[in-house]
This record gives sequence, C-alpha cells and structure tokens, in this order.
Amino acid sequence: MKSSIKRMLAEIEGEVAYTRSLIGKSKLDPRVMAAIGKVSREMFVSPDLKDFAYDNGPLPIGYGQTISQPYIVALMTDLLQLEPDHIVLEVGTGSGYQAAVLSQLVKQVFTIERIPALADASAARLKSLGYSNVQYRTGNGYDGWPEHAPYDAIIVTAAASHVPQALIEQLKSGGRLVIPVGLPYMPQELMLVEKDAQGKTHTRDILGVAFVPLQEETSVNKDG
Ligand code: SAH
Repeated sequence: MKSSIKRMLAEIEGEVAYTRSLIGKSKLDPRVMAAIGKVSREMFVSPDLKDFAYDNGPLPIGYGQTISQPYIVALMTDLLQLEPDHIVLEVGTGSGYQAAVLSQLVKQVFTIERIPALADASAARLKSLGYSNVQYRTGNGYDGWPEHAPYDAIIVTAAASHVPQALIEQLKSGGRLVIPVGLPYMPQELMLVEKDAQGKTHTRDILGVAFVPLQEETSVNKDG
C-alpha cells in the first residue's frame, strides 16, 4: 500500500478515536478500513488536486459538489454493517469514490446521481478502474431506485431536510440507512435508521456533519 494511503488510514483512525464517545466505538470494522486502503482516491479528483487526495478532508469535484471527507466515508460505511451478499443503494454518486469503497464490501452497488456530467464521468471512471459490481443511474435519488429494491443498506451522501419515505420503503427489514439530515449549509446530523423485522424504524443521531444538499427535484441547470 502507498505511504500516502497509509497516512490517510492513520488519520481516519485518529479521528475515530477522537470521536469515540459520539460514535460509540474506538475502532471501525477492519474490513471497512481494508476497503478504503484499496481505493486510490487520487483517481477520483481532478489532476490539480492529486497532492491533496489523501488528506482527511473533502475536496471539490465541480458543479458545487464535493468528494466527502475520508473519515466520514469510513464512518458511514461502517454504520451500514455490510456483508458480502448485500445489495446497497447509494444516493449521490458524485465522484464515485464512496461507490468504489462500497463495491469492495458487497455483492452489488446501485448508485444514483442527478447531475448528468458527474454521473457520466464517475460511471466511466469506475468502469475503467474495474469496479464491475456498480450500476449507475442519472436521476433523482430522493425517490430511490425502486426497480432493484429492497436494499440491505442505503447510503445518502447529500443532506436531506428529512428522511425520504421512498428510501425507508426500499429498505429491507433488518436493513440500515445512513443519511445526513438538516437544513442546507447549516449543521446537520448524521442519522442511522434501522428497520426491524416488523418493519418498524428506529433512528439514532450519530454525529454533526456538513454535506452538500440533497435536491428534492430532478431538474438540473445546464450550467451546473
Ligand atoms: N458520494 C460522493 C459524494 C457526493 S456529494 C463521492 O464519493 O464523491 C453529493 C452528491 O449528491 C452530488 O454529486 C449531488 O449532485 C448529488 N445529489 C444531490 N441531490 C441528489 C438527488 N436528489 N439525487 C441524486 N443525487 C443527488
């Protein structure tokens, strides 16, 4: 493994330990850390940002959007408690980095992005890097992706004003959904929603976060 990725993993471990009282654990699942260790984050940012690719921070990916902070990617992935036979939905493909991490851990990833240029670029990128168990769609993830539901896990990587009902409906019993909830550009709360065997949901606040907003309408301004 490259020394820059090792440094990033060490920074994630440090932040996990620092936030242990909030997140309820001092270490993440080693499988999640191994998956992150295998993905070259530099391939998911523009060439001029490569020097910062393994910093533990978000970076711009164009169209006012960002690739999330590695610690947050690791934490959200860990919260999903993924298993190799799982089918996962991601809302907000962005750069495709989170999808690449998920793809190491599960059978199939479905990912939706509303900005066509980002969706097309990340689909091409993931294909060329050989992530073959990821399927893409350009559209509004607020409504989920009903054709492949129900999902073992759903991850929303943009902040919603509330937990979209369609996503709860598309979650399996026993499934887990992680989503930042809050007003655009205000402090948000990362929430874990668990659906029990009876189909009842249980919600837990994990940690304060800052995400770009989840758009509830599909139409995209051509200028991004
Ligand atoms: N997971 C991404 C981070 C993406 S940032 C990564 O690893 O790089 C959030 C993304 O969500 C943005 O690309 C934004 O365009 C997208 N988004 C916002 N609202 C959406 C919606 N309703 N449906 C699908 N994608 C949405």
